[in-house]
Amino acid sequence: MTTIETTPDTSLESVNPATGEVIATHPIADEQAVRAAVATARAAATTWGALTYDERRHHLLRWASYLINNADEFTALIHRENGKPLDDAYLELMLAVEHVSWAAKNAKKYLSPKRVSPGALMSNFSARLEQRPLGVIGVIGPWNYPVYTPNGSIAYALAAGNTVVFKPSEYSTTIGNYLADAFAKANPELPAGVFATINGFGATGAALVKADIDKIAFTGSTATAKRIMAAAAENLTPVLLEGGGKDAVIVAADADVKAAADAVAWGATSNSGQTCAGVERVYVDRSVRDEFVAEVKRILTDVKPGSGDKAAYGPMTMPKQVDIVRRHIESALSNGGTAVLGGPESVKGPFIEPVVLVDVDENSEAVQEETFGPTITIRTVDSVDEAVDLANNSRYGLSSAVYSKRNGLDIARRLRVGATSVNSVLAFAAIPGLPFGGVGDSGIGRIHGEPGLREFTRPHSIAVQRFAIPGMALLSYARTDSTMKLLRKITPLLHGRHK
Ligand code: NAD
Repeated sequence: MTTIETTPDTSLESVNPATGEVIATHPIADEQAVRAAVATARAAATTWGALTYDERRHHLLRWASYLINNADEFTALIHRENGKPLDDAYLELMLAVEHVSWAAKNAKKYLSPKRVSPGALMSNFSARLEQRPLGVIGVIGPWNYPVYTPNGSIAYALAAGNTVVFKPSEYSTTIGNYLADAFAKANPELPAGVFATINGFGATGAALVKADIDKIAFTGSTATAKRIMAAAAENLTPVLLEGGGKDAVIVAADADVKAAADAVAWGATSNSGQTCAGVERVYVDRSVRDEFVAEVKRILTDVKPGSGDKAAYGPMTMPKQVDIVRRHIESALSNGGTAVLGGPESVKGPFIEPVVLVDVDENSEAVQEETFGPTITIRTVDSVDEAVDLANNSRYGLSSAVYSKRNGLDIARRLRVGATSVNSVLAFAAIPGLPFGGVGDSGIGRIHGEPGLREFTRPHSIAVQRFAIPGMALLSYARTDSTMKLLRKITPLLHGRHK
């Protein structure tokens, strides 16, 4: 098993989670270095924020092209530092670039100044709503999708005119730095600090939260999200928090059972199950339960993790997660559950083979807590109502999926989550126009789509008086009794006629 080694307080070693090989050593940014990076980003914000949307679009698209044109080098690094197979690394990069492109091309449409109706009483005004960049955004990322996930904040913050200081996870530092270096290489004429990284562990992230930033965009565990929100409160720094999940899939009686099993098998185990919006729980109708469980088992029997390029999925990236996964499997089995595939013996060092658990007690850790491993719990239900109640009985509410030929949309609407795929899993994450984020312990705010752009702006309302209406000086001591008399006649006509 691999561990992240540190030279006390000054550097961190990045290791290949499959082999333990040291990939790189990165100096750790202390408070002073974090403040310096934020100051450079603040200076760069003057230039970057003053560009037009079309100019920023050009720089962002050049960055996207650089990443895709160097995909072989970048995905090899993702494979080495994160452990995921090369094809999965490419898929992640491709989706991240889709988002860069969408944010670059849509910021102008959604964030350009808009005219707002001034209303009858203020008809001598023109009203404008303008979105301004916030300034410097601090981004703190996780390691499981080390490009796609933080990019949901980085690309959208940049497209909205902010500069970004990014602290990648200590488990994906080299990948994070590649992303920022690529931006600088693709755009050599831009000042330093439009998009820069600071490296380190939680303490470096905590220093970023306390630094002179205008918003903190965090993706990671719910426990850290809570710590960050508490620390950000000190300066009233706004937060965007993308936390964990315990996503459920509902398989209704009229589901395409084979398609549901195929999607659940992949959604639960791909990326070693280390997917915030991955499948963790399934509620399947009794009438199709046996067929569904047999099909999931059949598919996953042949799915094996490994370190090779063509493995179905890689090792657990973070060593301490291995113990959590083992504990959840054991908790499921000691709480009435049965393993129809695998069991505690499936945990083989950093590699964990698929584990399918049925009839686990809903109150057990395995059903209530995020497992973040290639395991799944399947529970039989007697109705859609029961499935919806159980799916919603979670402190998390990130995303979900529904398999039903006739009622997918209706069932989806009843789920207390930020996103749902109908007759698919995780599809929403690949559609850049759809916002992504959760409710409850899954977080606050949205990345992606129009809401994801707005997260990194502040609305600026401007009312311009075009001419004065004689005798209608409402906002003045020159207001007369006859003005008030007129208002008392007009207002009931405007607002007092609703029966
Ligand atoms: P983590 O919370 O341990 O770490 C995330 C980041 O926070 C790291 O960069 C870490 O160095 C930093 N950090 C730790 N303590 C900090 C502190 N006190 N102040 C500031 N920063 C601090 O999470 P992780 O293990 O890297 O990521 C896995 C978690 O992320 C899972 O729970 C997963 O569900 C979640 N996740 C959520 C999404 C989403 O979009 N909702 C996406 C991917 C992952």
